[in-house]
Amino acid sequence: WAGSSPHLRAVLEASLEHGDREALVFEGERISHTEHFRRAATLARRLVEDYGVARGDRVALAMRNYPEWVTAFFAAVSVGAIVVPVNAWLSAPELEFVLRDSGARLLVADSERLERLGAALERLDLAVIAVRCAGPLPRGARAWAEVLGEVAPDAVPPEVALAPDDPATLFYTSGTTGRPRGALGSHRNMVSNVLSMAFMKARTLLRMGADVAEALALTFEAAPAKVLCVLPLFHVTGAQTVMLPTLSAGGTLVLLRRWDAEAALETIERERVSGMTGVPTMLAQLFAAPSFAERDLSSLVSLGSGGAPAAPALVERALRGGLRPEATLLGAGYGLTECSATASVSYGPDYLARPDSVGLPVPVVDVRIVGADGADQPPGRVGEIWISGPGVVHGYWNRPEETAATFVDGWLRTGDLGRVDDAGFLYVVDRAKDMILRGGENVYCAEVEAALLEHPAVLDAAVLGLAHEELGEEVGAVVRVAAQAPPDAGELRSFLAGRLAAFKIPSRIAFTVDELPRNAAGKLLKRRLRDEAAWPSAD
Ligand code: ATP
Repeated sequence: WAGSSPHLRAVLEASLEHGDREALVFEGERISHTEHFRRAATLARRLVEDYGVARGDRVALAMRNYPEWVTAFFAAVSVGAIVVPVNAWLSAPELEFVLRDSGARLLVADSERLERLGAALERLDLAVIAVRCAGPLPRGARAWAEVLGEVAPDAVPPEVALAPDDPATLFYTSGTTGRPRGALGSHRNMVSNVLSMAFMKARTLLRMGADVAEALALTFEAAPAKVLCVLPLFHVTGAQTVMLPTLSAGGTLVLLRRWDAEAALETIERERVSGMTGVPTMLAQLFAAPSFAERDLSSLVSLGSGGAPAAPALVERALRGGLRPEATLLGAGYGLTECSATASVSYGPDYLARPDSVGLPVPVVDVRIVGADGADQPPGRVGEIWISGPGVVHGYWNRPEETAATFVDGWLRTGDLGRVDDAGFLYVVDRAKDMILRGGENVYCAEVEAALLEHPAVLDAAVLGLAHEELGEEVGAVVRVAAQAPPDAGELRSFLAGRLAAFKIPSRIAFTVDELPRNAAGKLLKRRLRDEAAWPSAD
């Protein structure tokens, strides 16, 4: 592994030890660890010499999951720059907002993003490196291949004085609850989580009876581990929980152009992929894909979900689809951009026994459940989840007030509501802002969504509060069903009646056959659903 240095440059340097093994696979392209190192080292030199990139400068990356993203990430952090991973799904004004807000001086972007930005590029004071652009480049932009030039077989990154607590990343939050904010993370923030997750995985494997060497190899995603990266690299879960552990241990990162369940299954079979982590919707689509049961997935030893609520029904669907839990380690995790992705994880038997839990806090992370009065809550009682640990970022970029409100005395106030059980397992019950207050009773959306998903005809579900004259709010649900023989609202309500208290049962249910709108991090866009769903009038 990269050794004990909590620095991202050490992760890049470790690539040399992994030599000719494949580091990156993208369609027909295969890049070895040594080649990955040399390319990043060469680009690092160009950043400093051609663009004057210095410690603390922001370098924005806006593209699909291309190998160039990974090269540019390691090149920039190795010379002390702060990488701004830009969400590739953003519209032109949103892209412009992030570029302006972060004060990026250099943008590395693919043709789609550059086209989308169009005239906005003229307004921004930015140098541009264009990735995979066949057509004419924007004025002043240089092509990636031209910037990189020849990659010398002995290229090394320029020497720059760096410290583990230097800022390294400025990931923007998803913006599901407001405007996205940049979370300023350090090298230590990123690297500490890689070790924490590895520890949790090793512990589970040893408890399951794996021999030590096997457990260590799997734990560190070491060669011959091959990890399919289906999460966007611009999101902290993709970069932190998928890219870093894989590359730091000499494994292979297999990149997909875009998420597609059948393409993922075909790639797992062809490349003999050993691990994949996705948002819950991706896993649900994988298990529901027509070819799931027929594919040879025997290489797959770990399959994880995180980043958004996953209903326990997901496990049932995996098992029904033919997944063997003794052969494939299922897992789930919880975290935020503000804590560099991982606060808790649950693997294997723990996850199967408690599929509604997001697991145990990872080592050296503390979790508190804090009530409205500021007091710690006993097991079983719901309160706000607070987190402290080496993954918690410095704060928000240029937002002192929001930083002061969210990061308090070393604790990150997550805005999520949760509880722990007697064994210390954490459960996320809802986001505080999503919780429905129905006539004085709290309704947690995630619980109602999970109950709806137990119905075999329900493909997806979103629960949200709708304004109500007397109650303040009533419970609404948007339910995705198959086109044939959908259940009606009455039938669904009687199904829920056996599972939920009456006040939690949605009074208004809108049906759709379309996919529910989600952002790139797999989160439901509830504000959009509230405005756009075909709501029946109140009963
Ligand atoms: P913004 O703060 O701008 O609205 P965001 O909070 O959606 O953005 P992220 O950092 O992408 O930005 O998401 C973190 C949130 O995702 C957590 O606060 C939590 O609500 C949710 N989340 C993450 N993992 C899980 C999980 N396993 N179960 C339930 N919710 C989860």
